[in-house]
Amino acid sequence: MRIKSSINFIYYNSMVNYKDLGLVNTRDMFKRAINGGYAIPAFNFNNMEQLQAIIKASSDLRSPVILQVSKGARNYANQTLLRYMAQGAVEYAKELGCHHPEISLHLDHGDSFELCKSCVDMGFSSVMIDGSALPYEENIALTKKVVEYAHQFDVTVEGELGVLAGVEDEVVAEESHYTQPEEVIDFVTRTGVDSLAISIGTSHGAYKFTPAQCTRDPQTGRLVPPPLAFDVLDAIMEKLPGFPIVLHGSSSVPQEYVDIINANGGKLPDAVGIPEEQLRKASKSAVCKINIDSDSRLAFTAAVRKVFAEKPGEFDPRKYCGPARDLMIELYSHKIKEVLGSDGKLANCD
Ligand SMILES: [Zn+2]
Repeated sequence: MRIKSSINFIYYNSMVNYKDLGLVNTRDMFKRAINGGYAIPAFNFNNMEQLQAIIKASSDLRSPVILQVSKGARNYANQTLLRYMAQGAVEYAKELGCHHPEISLHLDHGDSFELCKSCVDMGFSSVMIDGSALPYEENIALTKKVVEYAHQFDVTVEGELGVLAGVEDEVVAEESHYTQPEEVIDFVTRTGVDSLAISIGTSHGAYKFTPAQCTRDPQTGRLVPPPLAFDVLDAIMEKLPGFPIVLHGSSSVPQEYVDIINANGGKLPDAVGIPEEQLRKASKSAVCKINIDSDSRLAFTAAVRKVFAEKPGEFDPRKYCGPARDLMIELYSHKIKEVLGSDGKLANCD
């Protein structure tokens, strides 16, 4: 008995509420994003330089931001360290002059109730439960269970309907299945989710489409991907007016980064992403969260490869992670200002 109660005592004390870390959930930022016709950036991170770059860009531009962590990233970075990194991010934003930052710490692609619960208990302000690969009724049951737990702590929950193609950490799917608009009302009502990730042709990773799925620009020879299924998005918005929609796999795979990587010893043939023009259009709709991961990886890798190629004698990580950080700041700033339109959208920009 005594042993059991002492375990409970330790467990109880290890629980952390995100509000104590200075984080916010996604409810209010999504509401404003839908009404304002812009989208909130959800940038994945797993290391200090990425986090510094995300906070620098979002703070300078007064943008709400979602720090997104996958299961793989959580294993890579360590959950305890992550919690303090998120808390540090809030303080860093204030130090940069952004006195009222709106930063969410979000679990990307939670694959079990236990993982989502563990994140809620460790200071995440938002979690995704991805039951999209399960049969429909099982997806509903699992998502509902996570919502019931998370909402006790005012943690917001993202669910998913439809399957995205591509590779992202442990999430792998051969082909995509668009979200079926007929299912969304039932799913959202029965699960109680706060936002819904849908599949309309975006895809995970740096190879979003095979060359066979694309056409080629006759002038540049570059691959031109097929357009997103905006008709499916429209049908979903009609069913769920004003409900927050999420797009995963929305990196654009900037060809300038791919070119730098390939010119400096890398090998990324035919890497292709979602054209920014399409994401700009989506941002103006009920899509209020856009996930970007691969673009940051590409920027980081391009900068590091360039330093290594130009200065083979360099062995101080600050001398190659520093330029990587600079390039990521440029990338995140560009996304916020030129693609998603979330700059200057904090409730209080002082
Ligand atoms: Zn995803």
